[in-house]
Amino acid sequence: MNAVHDVIPPAAFPFLRTEGAPADVGRAHGRAFGDRVLASVGVYRRKFDAIGLPWDKALAFAGRNIDYLRSLDPALVAEMDGIAEGAEVPAEEIYLINIRTGLTRMVEEGTDEDHECTTAAMLGEATADGHTLMAQNWDQHGDCQANTVVIEQHIPGEPALLFITEAGILFRHGMNDAGVGVVGNALRTNREKPADRATTSHIARRRALRCTTFDAAVQALRDTPRSHSGNHIIAADGQGAVDVEAVPGETFLVHPRDGIVVHSNHFLNADACATLEDRGRASHPDTLFRDCRLRDALSARRGAITIADVRAALADHHGFPVSVCRHPDPAAESNGYTLVSSVIDLTARRMCTAPGPACVGTYTEYAFT
Ligand SMILES: [Zn+2]
Repeated sequence: MNAVHDVIPPAAFPFLRTEGAPADVGRAHGRAFGDRVLASVGVYRRKFDAIGLPWDKALAFAGRNIDYLRSLDPALVAEMDGIAEGAEVPAEEIYLINIRTGLTRMVEEGTDEDHECTTAAMLGEATADGHTLMAQNWDQHGDCQANTVVIEQHIPGEPALLFITEAGILFRHGMNDAGVGVVGNALRTNREKPADRATTSHIARRRALRCTTFDAAVQALRDTPRSHSGNHIIAADGQGAVDVEAVPGETFLVHPRDGIVVHSNHFLNADACATLEDRGRASHPDTLFRDCRLRDALSARRGAITIADVRAALADHHGFPVSVCRHPDPAAESNGYTLVSSVIDLTARRMCTAPGPACVGTYTEYAFT
């Protein structure tokens, strides 16, 4: 199918390099992207309105929940406080948009309908130049694209980060300068838990990227208490890759096959499939072919995969518009589509990211400075 120009993406996302203590990098994030932080808060305020959760109650919950996160990871809370200060918004609003998935899952099943994604990791044996690669099409409500940014962040004593996120939010996907990367997908189950003593997926991913080895990063991710289900692929240059299907209280692993691991929005681990009610299969039936399409496209080039091959695979339109390269569905109420398409070269420590949909986006290459 030819590219369908139903969305005209921006040429590139705004970029910011920050350096300093957690509060400093947060403040720089808030100052640089203040208008976008406000817009992010607005997106989720409308979302809470839509599910009937009063904003003042949600803010009060966020204020209580943050005490738990502060005890677990004070540096991340300091970074959020910095974002709030820099953007001149109440800290509770920043806490709330960072814990919102855990909160919305408590209130109503089936929210976050637009949040899907298709992801992959490829070990050196599968790629043309022996590099370890990762890929993500990040599918979310279209309103979020204007608030999406790329940040290179240097905190003394921690690996430097290069990542994609919505302004005001700590992380979505990316890598560190030790060559460890993480991408992810939404999962839905019958195991969602109250969000008052646990964390959301992107908090676990940020914690994993404080690690400089594959094993430590996987352990950090698995050890972070979670309030809702979510999928994560972790890979490290020359060390390995694994998919972690995480539900509250438990994780299930999916290992690469022939050097390739691919995931969308349903469980693949056999034990998980046997013991969980996988609600993603029902709410997003396209998940079942998206992972197959990406796997088949990558497997066909096994041993010779290049970044160009990965980009081509991410632009697949089978099942359009709910394809790997997702477009707005005129038949649906929401306007979710692939907001961001990324190919990460963990060996070269470079991230190529395009505002989506992937088929029409322009990839910009980011590297550590
Ligand atoms: Zn497309």
